[in-house]
Amino acid sequence: MKFIDQMDINGQKLLVRVDYNVPLKEGVIQDAHRIRASLATLNYALERGAALIICSHLGRPTTRHEPEFSLLPTAVRLAELLGRKVKMAPDCVGSEVTGMVQALKPGQVLMLENLRYHAGEKRNDHEFSKQLGALADIYVNDAFAVAHRAHASVVGVVEYAPASCGGFLLKKEWEYLGQVLTDPQHPYVVISGGAKMSTKIDVLNALLDKTDDIIIGGAMANTFLLARGYQVGQSLVEKLRVRDAVELLEKASGKGKKIHLPVDLTFGQGIHSLTALGVCRSDVIPQDSMVLDIGPETITQFKTVLAKAKTVLWNGPMGAFENPAFARGSRELAQIVAGLDDVLTIVGGGDTNVVIKSENLSDQFSFISTGGGSFMAFMEGKELPAFKALKESAKR
Ligand code: ADP
Ligand code: MG
Repeated sequence: MKFIDQMDINGQKLLVRVDYNVPLKEGVIQDAHRIRASLATLNYALERGAALIICSHLGRPTTRHEPEFSLLPTAVRLAELLGRKVKMAPDCVGSEVTGMVQALKPGQVLMLENLRYHAGEKRNDHEFSKQLGALADIYVNDAFAVAHRAHASVVGVVEYAPASCGGFLLKKEWEYLGQVLTDPQHPYVVISGGAKMSTKIDVLNALLDKTDDIIIGGAMANTFLLARGYQVGQSLVEKLRVRDAVELLEKASGKGKKIHLPVDLTFGQGIHSLTALGVCRSDVIPQDSMVLDIGPETITQFKTVLAKAKTVLWNGPMGAFENPAFARGSRELAQIVAGLDDVLTIVGGGDTNVVIKSENLSDQFSFISTGGGSFMAFMEGKELPAFKALKESAKR
């Protein structure tokens, strides 16, 4: 696979697939992190005399006549961040767009309209892919968040663009995530929390051979406690996944890997309660309450496990952290991981990211993935469609 620093881009027109799927409220961008994250690749290309054609999706429009899904606000913000003009195209394909691309000079930037205004994007349609590919001298994928999607602007376009490569964001994901997947330094501790057991159990199974310790918290832990034969009261569990949890526990002990479950828990009446009701040991969870965070003794134990780590991969908060009454476990864990010295610390997952950001600790982690579904799929060991397409094009 090739990345942008291996390409001769001077004087070339680059079609750059970015992820500008930003949160918008009445046309105002709520968080421009994704736009800022693309600047490394864009500035690099502009400094080397390339012209940029930028494309992205935004939200889930069903037709072209939904102006609330226009990428115009992101073009305006990008212009501010780049300190140069960004022209907005009326569409992402078609004769008008082709004309604008033809007129583009080195150092100029053109933003295409929402890719998902065309049904061909999600269908990976040949004709649509061909039209996209024809716009560029070189296609650059810098959108890890959609790397697991076989969409036209991720996969199909690679077939038709004269040359293709990954951008710096994609490269970072590839290198950092690749390292914890295939060649981690030991001891390697995986922390798994959050609520979506069904999406996470495959990752744990895939990582089991590589890791030394797995720490489990959040609602995930409830299902594992159930698997251990404990009662979990009214807590959020995935009953259909208890079998998977039992299997993972058995497999882990067969391989001499340690799975650490909470020894004590903070419980409450419900997820919106103003205060916690108390802390209990994991084997005596009150019948009529919900487990909503890990307890203090558990935090101390997890800290001990983490103290010897050389690599840490974290996905999923330790509790219902959106409610301050149940945020302590996640926040303290963020502090603990951030405070580890000489350790490769990698984070994935939207909610885990929110915890770290709200503690102002983002800079103290080695790498925070920009992927959600793509992060999980990569960690399951699946070959992502984006990487597959880029690898094949590098062979051509
Ligand atoms: P990520 O986005 O980092 O992958 P998830 O989406 O899997 O994480 O999980 C985050 C969600 O899990 C949060 O909304 C949080 O409130 C919820 N959660 C964590 N622990 C519990 C719990 N014990 N009970 C209910 N919800 C929980
Ligand atoms: Mg989430």
